[in-house]
Amino acid sequence: MHELSLCQSAVEVIQRQAEQHQVARVTGVWLEIGALSCVEESAVRFSFDRVCRGTVAQGCELHIAIKPAQAWCWDCSQAVEVVSQDARCPVCQGARLRIGNGDMLVVKSIEVE
Ligand SMILES: [Zn+2]
Repeated sequence: MHELSLCQSAVEVIQRQAEQHQVARVTGVWLEIGALSCVEESAVRFSFDRVCRGTVAQGCELHIAIKPAQAWCWDCSQAVEVVSQDARCPVCQGARLRIGNGDMLVVKSIEVE
C-alpha cells in the first residue's frame, strides 16, 4: 500500500523533530496531501494510525488538508492552482495548463505537549 510507506516517512520526520526538541509526546499532526497525488485520505488515516503505534505520535490528533497543485496557464500567463489533472484555468477557463506534480504528502506542522 502506497499510503503506508508515505505515512512511515511522515512518522520518521515527526520522530526526528520530537527528538531534536526533546519532546515526549506529539498531540497533533497536520498533513498535506497533494490534490493530484492519488493518495486517499481515508487510507492515510488508517496507515498513519498503524505506523504511529509505539511512537511519540501515538494517539495524536491527525489533521489532513488537500493541497492544490501549482499550474501555469498559457492563456492568461499566470500561476494558478488546480485540484485535478483535467482542470481548466480558474481565472480564464482556458485549457492550456502546464500542471506541476506537486507534493504527495508532507508534514505541515506538529503540536507537542
Ligand atoms: Zn488562464
